[in-house]
Amino acid sequence: MKTPSYLSARVPDDEVQRLAALRELGVLDTATDSRFDDITLLASQICGTPIALVSLVDESRQWFKSRVGLDATETPRDIAFCAHAILESQTFIVPDALEDRRFAGNPLVTGGPKVRFYAGSQLRTSAGHNIGTLCVIDMKPRSLTPEQISAMEALARQVVLNFERQKFATDLHRREGFLKNILGMLPDLVCYIDKDLVYRYVNPAYERWLGIKPEDFIGKKMTDILGKDAIADAMPYILRVLKGERQDFQVHVPYLINGRSIEKFVQVVYVPDIDVQNQVLGYFAVLTDITELKRAEDRALQQAQELAVALQHSKESERSFRSIFDQAPMGIIQLDMNLRIVAANESFCTFLGYSQAELKRMTILDMTHPEDEQRSREAIGRITERSEPLTRFEKRYIRKSGEVVWALVTSRSVKLQDDSEPYVFSVIEDVTQIRAAEQELKAAQAKLVTSAKMASLGEMAGGIAHEINNPLAIIKGKSELLAKRLGQGTLDPAKAGADIAAIGATVDRMSKIVQGLRSFSRSCDQDPLERGALGKVIADAIDLCGERFKNADVSLSINCPTDTLIEARTTQITQILMNLLNNAFDAVQGLPNKWVSVDAKASDASIRISVTDSGPGIDPKLVDRIMEPFFTTKEVGKGTGLGLSISKGIAESHGGTLTYQASGANTGFVLELPLRQPQTQQDQAA
Ligand code: ADP
Repeated sequence: MKTPSYLSARVPDDEVQRLAALRELGVLDTATDSRFDDITLLASQICGTPIALVSLVDESRQWFKSRVGLDATETPRDIAFCAHAILESQTFIVPDALEDRRFAGNPLVTGGPKVRFYAGSQLRTSAGHNIGTLCVIDMKPRSLTPEQISAMEALARQVVLNFERQKFATDLHRREGFLKNILGMLPDLVCYIDKDLVYRYVNPAYERWLGIKPEDFIGKKMTDILGKDAIADAMPYILRVLKGERQDFQVHVPYLINGRSIEKFVQVVYVPDIDVQNQVLGYFAVLTDITELKRAEDRALQQAQELAVALQHSKESERSFRSIFDQAPMGIIQLDMNLRIVAANESFCTFLGYSQAELKRMTILDMTHPEDEQRSREAIGRITERSEPLTRFEKRYIRKSGEVVWALVTSRSVKLQDDSEPYVFSVIEDVTQIRAAEQELKAAQAKLVTSAKMASLGEMAGGIAHEINNPLAIIKGKSELLAKRLGQGTLDPAKAGADIAAIGATVDRMSKIVQGLRSFSRSCDQDPLERGALGKVIADAIDLCGERFKNADVSLSINCPTDTLIEARTTQITQILMNLLNNAFDAVQGLPNKWVSVDAKASDASIRISVTDSGPGIDPKLVDRIMEPFFTTKEVGKGTGLGLSISKGIAESHGGTLTYQASGANTGFVLELPLRQPQTQQDQAA
């Protein structure tokens, strides 16, 4: 006899998805569950079979979630009737396994429970995958009525429904936990409020914001917790969300809630909870604290405003800088560190006769007078190395036409940005005309000095007349006497010799005076510095005016060291003394007690000569003005007002001073001069 064989079921087309769906349900190898046991019990009773199973066809086995009348919990898939059943869409019935070649040799038929009858209704998931069966088994051949089949199919649907519901519940639970975790971590307030304004859910952030535990909210009305005032502002939004409209708004919350003062800017979102019948059941609220954001926004706004103002200012200052630059009457240039001209204004272009374009191809040295090049470099070097903040120097430029012009240059180095190279900005003033005027003034001054000298000579004219008349009278007297004695034959040779000697001495004296006058009247600006005895310088002055003093009964005392040597343009020093003596002479006129004294005192390096007179002195109101050129109190035709100013100039050109010093009741002028001139000292040192 041939041994009966059996067929294993093929693998369904949707095997991969089917297995995935089975595993997702999460029921394999779980504990028994009375819901399914009730169903298998019903199935076995309805069909009148000893065995009923909820069988789930896994990858290589079938596992029974519920079983009636069978001890085994699973069997291999290759012998499972259910593996065949899941390939079908209708209830799969095997009336007599022994008569069916697919099952006749199946170990479950030949041994084990000795299956003869099998009917399996597919457990089809809502996605359409057959994950197993609800099946009934008998040990004898039989069939099912159509009612029994449809009852089996109904029960199979119940099995799947239970699986899926359980899965849904588990998923829901997991999702709820997940949501709870997220809501718990959120810094925002999240709550659900029903249409009667009763809290149904609040997240833990509520406790952090308001100090009230979440569970103390649940079931309470909003007004009971927050108070009417706190929700008054939100009320219009609440009314609208309860009409089904999402609300999105910001509020400033300066409220006192639960004894806590809360001052926040809050972003609020209300989302209505609408059911399938379009009824609003309540709303979800999410409140985000945007206080910091608002403050940052305010700060950013303020900064933007400040920036706008600063920009405006910098634009204005740039505009005003440009207009100063463009319209300045003096030249303005910007140089880089290589002394290239970066920018030059119109005045500078006009000054030198170059166009802007020409200048931008040049360095400042291209138009500098060769003799001033070194000085320009050094001056710019000092400011760029920051040893001087600002430098001011005079230099010569050469115009495009070749003409030489003078300019006073003021330069400063400026960094336009912290990390950039500095630029040199220079303001250039055309001083050519001033220079020319200075030259003219110098020439005029020189003339004035000469004419002042002549004027003082004029003042001395009376005295000089005496100086010359007296010797002339002596010569005349002596020569007449000699002629008379010669005529009378009484000429005594010894006496005659003495008279002739007296005439000779008198002529010498006269020629000395004339020589003094000549040297005094010529221009002595360019005289070399010479070393002379101070006594001689003073004597030269006395020689020119001594007679005048004598005739006017003015006593003149001279008190000075004889051996002191002074280095000076001596004729100029004589000129100072002449001026002082003339002024002193004028001051004592008409006084009962008329004297003038010249006193000199030498120290190591200088000499101090004072000319004092017995005159009434100088009105204190006029003291400040006496050294001014042309200031005089003397009558027209007598004074020039130049004596003191020229004398002061000469003293200073020798590195000395001339000052007015009233000593007690007497008027005094003090001339201080160094004994040596620095220039010659240097020469000697070299
Ligand atoms: P001038 O003698 O031609 O007026 P000065 O410059 O020499 O010009 O003197 C200016 C003025 O100073 C005089 O007019 C006079 O008023 C005053 N002054 C100068 N020396 C004396 C002096 N020794 N005593 C009084 N006043 C004097």
